[in-house]
This record gives sequence, C-alpha cells and structure tokens, in this order.
Amino acid sequence: MKESYDAIIIGAGVIGAAITLELARKGLKSICVDKVGEAGHGSTAGSCALIRPFYSTLDGAAIAWESHYYWLKWAEHLGVEDERGLIRYVNCGNLVFKSELNNNMVPVMSILDQLGCPYDELSMDEVVARYPFVSRSSFAPVRKLDDPDFGSPNGEELDGAVFFPHGGYVTDPALSAHNLLRAAEAAGATFRLNTKVTAICKAQGRVSGVKIDGGQEIVAPVVVNVAGPHSFKINAMAGVEDDMAIKTRALRHEVAHVPSPIGLDFETHGGHLSDSDTSVYCRPESGNHILIGSEDPECDERIWVDPDDFDRSFSNQWQLQVMRLAQRIPELKIPTKLKGVVELYDVSDDWIPIYDKSGLPGFYMAIGTSGNQFKNAPIVGEMMADLITACETGHDHDANPVTFHLKNIDRTISMGFYSRKREVNQQSSFSVRG
Ligand SMILES: Cc1cc2nc3c(=O)[nH]c(=O)nc-3n(C[C@H](O)[C@H](O)[C@H](O)COP(=O)(O)OP(=O)(O)OC[C@H]3O[C@@H](n4cnc5c(N)ncnc54)[C@H](O)[C@@H]3O)c2cc1C
Repeated sequence: MKESYDAIIIGAGVIGAAITLELARKGLKSICVDKVGEAGHGSTAGSCALIRPFYSTLDGAAIAWESHYYWLKWAEHLGVEDERGLIRYVNCGNLVFKSELNNNMVPVMSILDQLGCPYDELSMDEVVARYPFVSRSSFAPVRKLDDPDFGSPNGEELDGAVFFPHGGYVTDPALSAHNLLRAAEAAGATFRLNTKVTAICKAQGRVSGVKIDGGQEIVAPVVVNVAGPHSFKINAMAGVEDDMAIKTRALRHEVAHVPSPIGLDFETHGGHLSDSDTSVYCRPESGNHILIGSEDPECDERIWVDPDDFDRSFSNQWQLQVMRLAQRIPELKIPTKLKGVVELYDVSDDWIPIYDKSGLPGFYMAIGTSGNQFKNAPIVGEMMADLITACETGHDHDANPVTFHLKNIDRTISMGFYSRKREVNQQSSFSVRG
C-alpha cells in the first residue's frame, strides 16, 4: 500500500521545516522529505543569518521587522526542547553606512517611518566613537581588484550611518532548522531525510503526491516546493512554470571568514555592519572571526549555475570581499588560508520571494528567497499554512489574495505581494538587500 499524508513538503531547510511545523499545528498529517541527511544542510547552512528590518519595499521591511520578535521569543515559538540546544539570537543591532549607492538611506528611513520601526541616525563622529576601528573615508565607486584605483579613498568622508536596534544575527542557521524539525515532530509531523523527490505525481487535474528515488510513491493532495536553489527543477517536474510571471534560478555566492584584527574582540565591539560604499557586509563569526558577504555590486559578475553541478572552491571573489572590508577596517589582515562558505541563493527575477499556490491545484511554492529570507522563515511557515488551508477549502487566492496579520508590529499584509503572477517589482534593490 502507498504511504498517504495530507501534505508533503519538499525540502527541510529553515523554511521547509517551518512550513512543516505550521501545517502540523493546523492538524495536517505532514511529511517533509529532503535529499540530504540533516535538516538545514542545504543553502540554510551557508546562510549569514542576519536579522535586519531595512528593505527597499514596505512589505519587505514589515515582515523583516516582525521577524525580530520571533527570534527574540524563539523558545516560546517552538514550545519544545532540542537535545542539540536552541539557536542564539544576538540582538546587536545593524549599522548601515550612508552612501551614494543607498541614497544616504533616505528611502529606507522613509519606509521605516511609515512602519514606526525604530532607528538612530549617527554622525561619523558617533560611528567612530562606537566602532573606533572603522575608516571614515569613502571609496566609491565600488571597484574590481584589477582596477588601478582599487582601495584608494576618493577624498570624501562618509556622511554617517543609520543604526537599527531591532536586528542582529542567529548563531547557527542549520541548528535553527533542526529546532523547527523537533517542534514539527512534537506537533505530529514526519521527516524523511536522505530521500530525493524525482517526480511530481498528478491525478484528476491536481497534484496527487511525489515519487522518490527507488520509485516509491508518497500520496498527498498537497505538495509544497521548498527546495531552495533546486526550486526551478521541482517546478519543472510539476509543469507549473508556464503559469508563472516570475521565475527562479540559482546564483553562486561566496562568504569569507577571517580572523579579527589583533586586539579587537569583534563579537563584543563589532556587530553587523553593512557598507554599500565598498559593497560588503560583515558580522562576528565564532572564534573571534569576521564573516564577510557581498552586497552584489554591478561591477561583479553574477554566476548563475546548475545547483547540481557548480564549483564549491573559493575564487578571487573571496579575496576581493576581504580586501573591500579592509578598506572600511584598515587593521584587517588578509589571511593566506581561505575559510568560509560557497553556497547558492535561489534568486527570483526581482529578488523578492514567491510564496504562493500554482496553476496545478494542490501544488504550492515557497521559493526565490534571494539570499535574504532566513529571517522570515518562522513567519513564512505560518503564512504558507494559512494560504494552503484557505486554498484547499475553496478560497481563490489569485483573485482575492490571502492576508496575514503580523501580530508583533500589528500590521496586516497581503500575500499578493509574493504572487508568482506579479509584475517585476521595480521598487526592489534587485540584490541581496531585497
Ligand atoms: C551565502 C548565503 C547567505 C545568506 N545570508 C542571509 C542573511 O544574512 N539573512 C537572511 O535572512 N537570509 C540569508 N540567506 C538566505 C537564506 O539562507 C535562505 O533564504 C534560506 O535558508 C532558504 O531556506 P529554504 O528552506 O527555502 O532552502 P534550503 O535551505 O536551500 O533548503 C532546500 C532543501 O531542499 C532540498 N532539496 C532540493 N531538491 C530536492 C529534491 N529533489 N528532493 C528532496 N529534497 C530536495 C535540499 O537538499 C535542501 O535541504 C543567505 C543565503 C546564502 C546562500
């Protein structure tokens, strides 16, 4: 006899595990399948796990600000213990330097004013008083390593920065998925790891389950694609792409981990710094290291890849990101031993995710998270569970989008913002900044 469930979730990353938890909490007999042997060991494990409220769209900022409260109250959200321990949310805030590239943060501050989200504007003197190791100089425009002017200040000083107290980072992103797995199991869900989905099954005009390697079929009237950078492959199996105006693809990304400058305890005296002037961001990493990611400047090549066949070794991009941060933190040394992460973003056409149904009844997707949706995972779990139960009881989400109440900031958003049928959102930064 075929195994039968109410819902199959493809992918046990932080978002797949969160959706599994919330569907189980709604009473659906749910199974989450993942081709790897641990929850959170897809792109989630490589995440920088930054929590920050600043986004270029109002809806993007609203849900991101809301997420801060979920991470603050993580134990309460889960309601269970995990034998591996719970993640730690380091609420150190986020400092974003004003620059030409981010229009001195004026558009972002206007969005946060509309939401009532707190922030402080700091002069460069105040920035240096808090973070004495940073340079005041501007280095714009962002350059490539072979540019003869790489690393030369342009003679101007930065105009200050904006500090967001409701932000920080999560210490162990893979563990956050495992925490959710334990909570989902406690709510009645099943996880089947080391199990690859090879086909999406259909019957009578709707989804009817999945086929897994070995040929076995698991039956369910609901299937959710949360396959991260493999999302487009699962959508192709389901044959749902023709109905989508927004598509997804996999983008290679490098993150460098380097030791802090000698004498600087970066966890205590540093924090999350975002610097559009040099197009990198950083945060403390364990062992008094600094984690350095790229803000995707236009001069850097974007490397779109097949998620089943890409180069996991570091390239010159690693060194470039470290040298860009060394412009802002002049005492930073460039180590010879390369450490860090090479991972994939699942990028949508406008760098805003798709949290939606599909043209195939019963088939749903939470994809296109574009390097910036770790923070929102627990909320996406709740939103998707609401969307799925509404659609499965006859609601026409395309005509009348489901709404979701962000309880901590008391704001209701329309899930139409994340529609697969939307026009490309021109307000987006078209980058990891969202
Ligand atoms: C380098 C990097 C830095 C980032 N930094 C941040 C940040 O600072 N802040 C932030 O908010 N977000 C950040 N993100 C984004 C965030 O990490 C992702 O949005 C989030 O982890 C996506 O989770 P997911 O569950 O959707 O996907 P994933 O974690 O990728 O999980 C998808 C799962 O699907 C499984 N799968 C795929 N195909 C199949 C199949 N055929 N059968 C079975 N299983 C399958 C995979 O094995 C995988 O485990 C970053 C991402 C990266 C890569």
